[in-house]
Amino acid sequence: MNQLAGLLGLYDRPWQAYALCAQVGPGPFYPEKGENATDAKRICAACPVQPDCLDWALATREPHGIWGGTSERERRKLTTHHDTAKDSA
Ligand code: SF4
Repeated sequence: MNQLAGLLGLYDRPWQAYALCAQVGPGPFYPEKGENATDAKRICAACPVQPDCLDWALATREPHGIWGGTSERERRKLTTHHDTAKDSA
């Protein structure tokens, strides 16, 4: 169904048609503060569109949830590192 929806252009982001998280629901990807995100990260590690997802999350500075196998905090570190490297170039 996800892939059909992707082919029909029903997703804003075409790679979402192949997202494994769409098969399990959002629960594990939005852990409460202090909760473990291991299940979500394990799913992301097997997801065929993980690089696209992470690129999107970094580019949009997605502030919530697990995207591309990273938490909000991990993405903030990656973005800060990228911004710092860009400023010093
Ligand atoms: S990498 Fe994770 S959050 Fe991104 S589409 Fe795949 S399963 Fe979903």
